[in-house]
Amino acid sequence: MTKAFLIKYAEIGIKGKNRHYFEDRLVHHIVRSLRDVEGRFEVTKEYGRIYVFPQGDFDYNGVLEALQCVFGISGICPVGVIEDMDFENLKEETVRFMKETYPDETPRTFKVNARRSNRKYPKDSMQLNADLGEAILYACPWLKVNVHEPDILLTVEVRASIYLYAEEIPGPGGMPVGSNGSAMLLLSGGIDSPVAGYMVSKRGVQLDAVYFHAPPYTSERAKQKVVDLAKQVSKYSGQIRLHIVNFTDIQLEIYEKCPHEELTIIMRRYMMRIAEMFAERDGSKGLITGESIGQVASQTIDSLVCTNAVCTLPVFRPLIGFDKQDIVTLAEKIGTYETSILPFEDCCTIFVAKHPVTHPILEIIERSEKKLGDKIEEMVQEAVSGAETVVVDGV
Ligand code: ATP
Ligand code: MG
Repeated sequence: MTKAFLIKYAEIGIKGKNRHYFEDRLVHHIVRSLRDVEGRFEVTKEYGRIYVFPQGDFDYNGVLEALQCVFGISGICPVGVIEDMDFENLKEETVRFMKETYPDETPRTFKVNARRSNRKYPKDSMQLNADLGEAILYACPWLKVNVHEPDILLTVEVRASIYLYAEEIPGPGGMPVGSNGSAMLLLSGGIDSPVAGYMVSKRGVQLDAVYFHAPPYTSERAKQKVVDLAKQVSKYSGQIRLHIVNFTDIQLEIYEKCPHEELTIIMRRYMMRIAEMFAERDGSKGLITGESIGQVASQTIDSLVCTNAVCTLPVFRPLIGFDKQDIVTLAEKIGTYETSILPFEDCCTIFVAKHPVTHPILEIIERSEKKLGDKIEEMVQEAVSGAETVVVDGV
């Protein structure tokens, strides 16, 4: 018996023509995810199923960890593959599989669910169910049969080879990245935006990102932190092009010309404008932020109205209705939290006013921005053309 993995994926919305495309993307991402795992792997699509076949020795937990980062996978079933079709051999291997999968000998109930798609096989599904069930009962006295609600459902698929599986380890769900276009993430060093990127990517959207820093007010370490966060997100999303924009001059200009209590809002509007310019360049169809209603002054509904007013692309805010604790829990789950809480300032925190407006009025903000004149446009162009682009792909 050799070991393999059956990949389960949700099939909603992928009927008809889309199906092949969806599956091919999924195979592509599975291959990518296994790139750094010890061992050699063949990923195949057969009978409308996706399998990972290790070739020789491999890192079992490494495979599971990698596959649990691939969007589109709903479950991962460790499979025993039996080439020798002889029934006595199948019986022995089935018992061995059960003993290996459940070594603790805890009393449980089980049911054999055989499916014979290879018509040449001498026993039909009913006979297989009965005969294999009997063999298991005999060899594992701590197990009992329950055909209605078994603890263990042992599936036996008889094709050109025989496949056994009982366990299903949950995958991350979602859809394969690239099956739903691409979007530009405004990625800061905080807790929220990496989670926002993760969530949109989970729906099959490919990510690129933009980070605004303000040297020397923000440090090289703050920038490295954002690069690290992008890498962590790219473990799930695949390659991210991270544009690092020097925002210092723009920020200073706003600081000098505009009312300080409006600073954050006006800065945010410039971030959105610049992010859109990168989105257009990269072919992204939307922007993503980590905003959540009411979290801070710049995220009240009135503030969001003002920020949103400069955007022509849709802005995806997947955390809009989340409490901070929910976001923290997700950040911990996806592994970005530890990096996010490192203490380096990002550019916004430095220029924050003591009493920022919480209910800005769009007309007033627009009037304040007029004070910036034409010079700001040049600064924006300069910031865009001078941006550094870092490509990250997995950790
Ligand atoms: P986060 O934890 O994502 O930093 P936050 O709670 O600090 O969020 P804000 O600072 O108000 O919230 O930022 C709101 C959103 O604006 C962020 O989620 C992010 O998408 C974007 N943003 C803020 N600062 C930057 C930055 N320096 N570079 C890129 N995007 C930014
Ligand atoms: Mg922030």
